[in-house]
Amino acid sequence: MNRRFDGGTSGAALAGIVAAVVRPEILALTKYAVAKAGGLIKLDAMESPFPLPEPVRAKVAAAVAAVPVNRYPDGAADAVKAALRDAFDLPATAGLILGNGSDELIALITMALARPGATMIAPEPSFEMYRMNAIFSGMRYAGVPLRPDFSLDAEAMEAAVTHARPALVYLAYPNNPTGNLFDTSAMERILRAAPGLVVVDEAYHAFAGASFLPRLHEFPNLLVLRTVSKIGMAGLRLGYAVAAPEWIAEFDKVRQPYNLNALTQAVAPVLLAEQAMLATWATQLISERARLEAAIARLPGVVVFPTRTNFVLARVPDAPRWFEALRAAGILVKNRHGVHPLLEHCLRITVGTPAENDALLAALASL
Ligand code: PMP
Repeated sequence: MNRRFDGGTSGAALAGIVAAVVRPEILALTKYAVAKAGGLIKLDAMESPFPLPEPVRAKVAAAVAAVPVNRYPDGAADAVKAALRDAFDLPATAGLILGNGSDELIALITMALARPGATMIAPEPSFEMYRMNAIFSGMRYAGVPLRPDFSLDAEAMEAAVTHARPALVYLAYPNNPTGNLFDTSAMERILRAAPGLVVVDEAYHAFAGASFLPRLHEFPNLLVLRTVSKIGMAGLRLGYAVAAPEWIAEFDKVRQPYNLNALTQAVAPVLLAEQAMLATWATQLISERARLEAAIARLPGVVVFPTRTNFVLARVPDAPRWFEALRAAGILVKNRHGVHPLLEHCLRITVGTPAENDALLAALASL
């Protein structure tokens, strides 16, 4: 049965009510796109391509079987916090807050800082959810263009920070979708000039070989944001933020009381304890990344940008056509053409398993 939800009024009347009550900036938004990958080699979302080894699956199964799903989870998620502190050597005196993915932390940090009239600044192009969350929370937003080589324009950022006095600055380090690591001194200049919080989003830290985490004590306005999504646990939805306890205490008020579900809380410590497995995966992806960079750069008319992540951004002769041809060959990548002028004809390709990368290179060679 195909019944409508308009209570007998016309569809147009319902649309009119929706348009009258939903905030105009939400009505104007386009939803963050999540592609369906059914059957394709999935190189679009920076996931780890590696399935869990059988002995680890058995540990996960046992941990899940023991979860009392009739009860609410631990609101503080203390076991997960302890596992993260151990696994990533987080500074002992720093505050720590967990999110349902770092996406949730971006949302609640933004919400907490969205005083009427407050501004968010981020370089562009960068992770789209920064700007979207400014809109969700009613924050002003100012994007500062990166240079054409995707480096941070420190002068322009500093000028924007001095002029707009932002409550919140987002710097993805390394940046998505460009893949590069911003210059340390440019980052430091922004951290010093910013009157409010600077979130250094280290979603790709496992592949970057650089981090601002050891420098938390130097910059009282620094928050380091991370996720386990790119290192093999995207399905768990677990992100974490580290900053001075004064910041974290405020963000913790905005957090939903049980934001980390019991299954995630049971499984995360099991996987975070598998340090050798996680390290092997990261090492293999870094070496596959180098192989992809070199091979893609050899294709005629293609430019590969330097990357410190688990993806490669490439400018190709005709991104929409290449995207479709790859999909026809069974491979899903992310087409960034049309998203920002600096990303003209750019495809973002997540590093896969050696076999997946071979398939990608074969498909690219036949284009
Ligand atoms: N920050 C950056 C820079 C990202 O690229 C992503 C994922 N695309 C996220 C945050 C969100 O990651 P998650 O919600 O899976 O932790």
